[in-house]
Amino acid sequence: MTRTTSAVLGLLVCPAPGAAQDFDNIQIQTIRVTESIYMLQGSGGNIGVSIGDDGTFIVDDQFAPLTDKIVAAIAELTDHPVDFVVNSHWHYDHTDGNENFGRAGAIIVAQDNSRRRMETEQIISLNGRVQPPYAEVGLPKITFLESMRFSYNDNVVDVIHTGPGHTDGDAQVYFRDSNVIHTGDMFVRYGLPYIDQGNGGSTDGMIDALWTIAGLIDDDTIIIPGHGQLSTRTDLLEFRTMLVTIRDRIKDGIARGLSVDQVIASNPARGYAEPAGSAGWVRTAYEAYR
Ligand SMILES: [Zn+2]
Repeated sequence: MTRTTSAVLGLLVCPAPGAAQDFDNIQIQTIRVTESIYMLQGSGGNIGVSIGDDGTFIVDDQFAPLTDKIVAAIAELTDHPVDFVVNSHWHYDHTDGNENFGRAGAIIVAQDNSRRRMETEQIISLNGRVQPPYAEVGLPKITFLESMRFSYNDNVVDVIHTGPGHTDGDAQVYFRDSNVIHTGDMFVRYGLPYIDQGNGGSTDGMIDALWTIAGLIDDDTIIIPGHGQLSTRTDLLEFRTMLVTIRDRIKDGIARGLSVDQVIASNPARGYAEPAGSAGWVRTAYEAYR
């Protein structure tokens, strides 16, 4: 197993078949972003929390066994229970808490393609993990195609689908008044991003989406990435430059008639990732562009 792949598998939390992840040892860390917005980290994708007079809404809800701990962490911030959960996309490490939150009365919101995928069994292309369909109570009741807007907790919050990228159902959640954006896995802080090309994701789409996001925000924006620490627009643009550079090297190799093994041997991720760690990523991209 390559280094990058194992790192991504670690982040997606894919235990060996039969092994259960030990959620008992996971602690929820609360990171203040602004007076009304927080980031929670436990296991799985970063959770965004909006608190205020209107109530509470969160972006993503991690794994079902963590719901009680997540609820307890939110209760430290506000007396209001969670009214809405916005799913940044449909991957289990961001949405497996949906059924618990739905049962507790929260309305789940997502891009429409994400709802469609959560209705049926999905196989994650990276690791072959089967994601079972969610019960009705865990499915998004409100969906959107291109964008929607919340006016909530003194923020205009735009929820925007930027086309195929990490998956085919990604949503960016931009708190305009606070100048904070939750990018889901369109932007992450571990090396090469996982792009779910087996389920509608696209490298070109991610590159385009990152450009769209960069145009939406400014140098003062605080970014809550899908995974990793709070970031800036500069970090996001550097991440995009990495993708453009590696993609262009791969496409150049294809244009010169190189085989996939020759392209891998040319180390197109040089400067960004070790050859052993990037081979699988390069192979997937090669197949997509050839
Ligand atoms: Zn994901």
